Amino acid sequence: MASNFAINNIRDFEFIVQEWLPTERVFNYPQFADYYSKDDIKSILGPILKMCKEVIEPTNDENETHPVTFANGKVTTPPSFGPLFKMLQSEGWGTSNIDDSEDAMVLPEILHAAVSELIAAANPTFIPYIILTSGAADLIQSYGDEKLKAMFLPKMMDGTWSGTMCLTEPSAGSDVGDILSKAYPTDDPRIFKIKGNKIFITGGDNDFTENIIHLYLARIEGAKPGTSGISLFVVPKYWVNEDGSFEDNDFQTTGVEHKMGQHGSVTASLAAGENGNCRGWLLGKDPRENEGKGEGMAQMFQMMNLARMETGHMALSCIINAFANARDNAKERIQGRLLTNPKAGRTAIINHEDIKRTLMMGKAYIEAMRAMMYRVYLAFDQRHRDPDPEIRKAANDLIEMTTPLCKAYPSDEGWWLIGEAIQTYGGYGYCSEYPCAQIANDMKIYSIWEGTNYIQSMDLVGRKMNMKGGSIFGSWVQEMVDFCEANKGNETFTKEFSNLSKALNAYKEMLKALAGYSKSNMSMIPLYSRRVLTATAQLFCGRQILDQAILADKRAQEVGPEHYDYNFYTGKVATAKYYLRNVVPNVWATAEIVIDGDTSSIDVPIDVFEY
Ligand SMILES: Cc1cc2nc3c(=O)[nH]c(=O)nc-3n(C[C@H](O)[C@H](O)[C@H](O)COP(=O)(O)OP(=O)(O)OC[C@H]3O[C@@H](n4cnc5c(N)ncnc54)[C@H](O)[C@@H]3O)c2cc1C
Repeated sequence: MASNFAINNIRDFEFIVQEWLPTERVFNYPQFADYYSKDDIKSILGPILKMCKEVIEPTNDENETHPVTFANGKVTTPPSFGPLFKMLQSEGWGTSNIDDSEDAMVLPEILHAAVSELIAAANPTFIPYIILTSGAADLIQSYGDEKLKAMFLPKMMDGTWSGTMCLTEPSAGSDVGDILSKAYPTDDPRIFKIKGNKIFITGGDNDFTENIIHLYLARIEGAKPGTSGISLFVVPKYWVNEDGSFEDNDFQTTGVEHKMGQHGSVTASLAAGENGNCRGWLLGKDPRENEGKGEGMAQMFQMMNLARMETGHMALSCIINAFANARDNAKERIQGRLLTNPKAGRTAIINHEDIKRTLMMGKAYIEAMRAMMYRVYLAFDQRHRDPDPEIRKAANDLIEMTTPLCKAYPSDEGWWLIGEAIQTYGGYGYCSEYPCAQIANDMKIYSIWEGTNYIQSMDLVGRKMNMKGGSIFGSWVQEMVDFCEANKGNETFTKEFSNLSKALNAYKEMLKALAGYSKSNMSMIPLYSRRVLTATAQLFCGRQILDQAILADKRAQEVGPEHYDYNFYTGKVATAKYYLRNVVPNVWATAEIVIDGDTSSIDVPIDVFEY
């Protein structure tokens, strides 16, 4: 079978949680202090790694051997998915982190993210069933009244029911403000009749949970057009009565998509209220006080922001597993002789310069992106739980600033990076008996869903850079400048700091050009936004991985060459050097392109694209 979960250690997680990030304070929050310490990373992730290999990896094969089907109005999913969903949910590895009550056993986000990273690498197609259930439950937790919480949350959290997010419609994808789904008042101010069609809904149907709780965007009859007229409803597949019994809710699955990857994930078309009998609960603590009306997009953004982080993180999981497989294959595959020593005979391809460079490139992107993501996951814990309002605010600012980077950068780069992992295999990489082809097909969706990466780039350039008059972004850039200043004279990383400073200076010039374009020619902003996002992420990742390298270098010197961890630390130093010297220069190349301001692609009439 093609599946192979090839990740074989958790050392980088240990480095991040125990050595690099200031996690001590987080583990001392009252919610965690009695249950976890930063040293638990091994006892938590060790068994998860084993479970991924022994239990979850085999389920990944069923994406291809038992893909989703749809016949006579019913979907089937891979047979192993139901038991896996139930197991992960009931054992607390799935929808566990939404309960804010003091006595709830929740994992710090930074550990929860590491668990999810491994599960997603073992079966990227399965994990959205959990992520969407978590996101839907989180919205009910935040915006539902006590009745809704009691009705839905326990069964969503223990794996009896699942959840979805229903935004997209046939004529409204990127522009959600154009949705046509309607909601009509009933005698109960909390309950509305729902009518509409949704497409592309992940987990929109399945054959393994008793009910599916759809978080459904619709416009209340008479509400204004655009996003500000949209409200959010809890629309169960089966209506739940007060006594817990079900009634038909006039909610049908009309089809499933046939996709290039993610074959075990249901992507459903749904019809609500074809017979006028579909009901949904308006989200908002007290709809009698008009709460919730027109607040749907703001509420849904809570789920979307989490899902954007998770989408980028799933992309990263796929990249990691692809390169772990490429590494294993490169160690085994014998081909050619060393250019520098042909007489030594045939060699494993991992010894060839170009293969080694490709593996290092993968490692550099992986560790840089992971550094970025866990820096932000730490902020998730701080934002909710830190007693100091300044820390909570700084954490919130960081999350806001970096969410589009975390979503788009791994999912953009992942496509060609996994292509490079395939390349290291030669012909076998293109064959479905080997894992990377499936990983590539499963991965591609991440640059598209949760707002395409163009949407992310406009969120960064149009909104995030200008939040609070640009002051949040200004501080975010200044932090990187300060980091370079504080390390002036560092002799181990002279070239790397010089590159980061050069990139920062070029980036600032690029920002000036963008500011000018926003006054002189607005088209220049969307023309360059995706490239600006990539450069922004490369700058931020470069700063994080260089910070890691300083620590790793210190540790390497402390432990010495005979220590079992020496190669880990020196490997991290080399990886950071690769990223700073081979990837970060793209920032000043991008700056030059943006400042040049070539408009040839948008100046031409569209018929030049005929050929
Ligand atoms: C497998 C899969 C699962 C999905 N799961 C869900 C789900 O669970 N829930 C849900 O609600 N949706 C889901 N979606 C829908 C997904 O979020 C949308 O496909 C995505 O938002 C893009 O919308 P669209 O497909 O209509 O493309 P369009 O909006 O038509 O965009 C097409 C292209 O045009 C670009 N574009 C659009 N508008 C502009 C503009 N103003 N300026 C410049 N470029 C623009 C886009 O970036 C894109 O490249 C899923 C889709 C797929 C394929």
